[in-house]
Amino acid sequence: MSDVLVVVESANGVLKKVTLELLTLARDLGTPVAVVLGAPGTAAPLTEKLAEYGAAKVLVAEHEDLAGFLVAPKAAVLADIVRATSPAAVLLGSTQEGKEIAGRLAVKLDNGILTDVVELSADGVGTQVAFAGSTIVHSKVTRGIPLVTLRGNSLTPSPAPAAGAVETVEVTVPAEAKLATVVQRVAETKGARPELSEASIVVSGGRGVGSAENFKVVEELADLLGAAVGASRAAVDSGFYPHSFQVGQTGKTVSPQLYIALGISGAIQHRAGMQTSKTIVAVNKDTEAPIFELADFGVVGDLFAVAPQAAEEIRKR
Ligand code: FAD
Repeated sequence: MSDVLVVVESANGVLKKVTLELLTLARDLGTPVAVVLGAPGTAAPLTEKLAEYGAAKVLVAEHEDLAGFLVAPKAAVLADIVRATSPAAVLLGSTQEGKEIAGRLAVKLDNGILTDVVELSADGVGTQVAFAGSTIVHSKVTRGIPLVTLRGNSLTPSPAPAAGAVETVEVTVPAEAKLATVVQRVAETKGARPELSEASIVVSGGRGVGSAENFKVVEELADLLGAAVGASRAAVDSGFYPHSFQVGQTGKTVSPQLYIALGISGAIQHRAGMQTSKTIVAVNKDTEAPIFELADFGVVGDLFAVAPQAAEEIRKR
C-alpha cells in the first residue's frame, strides 16, 4: 500500500483531535505516515499516540525555525518530504495553519488541492460544502499528488495500532526554510476551554445576548458542558466577544456533536460555519427566526430564562 502523509498538529505535547481523524482517514487510503514539523522536542511526546492511531512511520523535522505557526518554513520542508517520498496523498487539518501550509504546498509542487472536505472516499473523491451550505460538491484532484484538508469533527477517530515498531526518520531542514521570525506572541485563548474548531460541544451567542457582560450566560452554559464558546459576527462587531471566536463564513468553521445557538437569527453566513454540526439546538424568542429551519431542537423563549434553567438542570445531574 502507498504511503499517505498526515501532517501532525499538536499543542503542548498533545495531538490535536483533527490529527487523530486524519490518521483514521489515512488508513482507508494507504499506509499512514505521520509528519511532525516543529521545534526540537516536539515529536517525542507524540509518537506513542501517533502509533496507536495507525502511523507506521513518523517523519520528524525539528528545528527552531519550525516552532509555532511559521507556516512558510513548514511548507518548504514538507515540499521536500513530498518530493522525496511520492506519497499517494497528503492530508492536513482544515485549521488556519493546515490550510495555509496546504495552499503554499500546492503552489510549490504545482499540485491539485481539495480544502475543507468533510468526507474523502478511498478512491480520493472529496465531499465539500459550498456556497454557504447550499451546494454539496464532490471533487477529485487530477493533477499531481492530492493535497487534502479535512474539516475538524468530520469523523470519529478510532485507534488501530500499526503493526510492528514505528520507524522515526529524521528529516533535514534546509537553511533556506528560514523565511520568517516570530516577533511577538499574543495569547488568544480564553481560559481553559477547548479550542473552538476542535470542540465537540460549542455554545454560541449572538446579538440577542445584548452585551459583553451578558456573555457570562453563554460562558456559564459552555463551562458546564465542557464546551467552547462561539459568537456570531453581529456579537463580535458589537464588541461582545473577540473576533477569534466568530463562527461563520468570515470566522471559524465548526462541526461539533452539539451546537447551541443563543440569540442567533441563523443568517446564511453564520450557517456556513456551523451547519455541519451533528445536533443543533437554537434558543430564540422569535418563532420566525431562520435558525429554526436548521435546528434539530428549537426553544422559543428568552435566552436569559432558558440558558440559566438549562444550566440549573445540568448542575443537578
Ligand atoms: P441578528 O440577526 O440581529 O439576530 C439576533 C437574534 O437574537 C434575533 O433572531 C432575535 O430574535 C434574537 N434575540 C434577541 N434577544 C433575544 C433573547 N433575549 N432571547 C432569545 N433570542 C433573542 N455572520 C456570522 O455570524 N458569521 C460570519 O462569519 C459572517 N460573515 C459574514 C460575511 C459577509 C460577507 C456578510 C455580508 C455578513 C456576514 N455575517 C456573518 C453577518 C450575517 O449576515 C448576520 O448579520 C449575522 O450572522 C447576524 O448575527 P446574529 O444572528 O447574532 O444577529
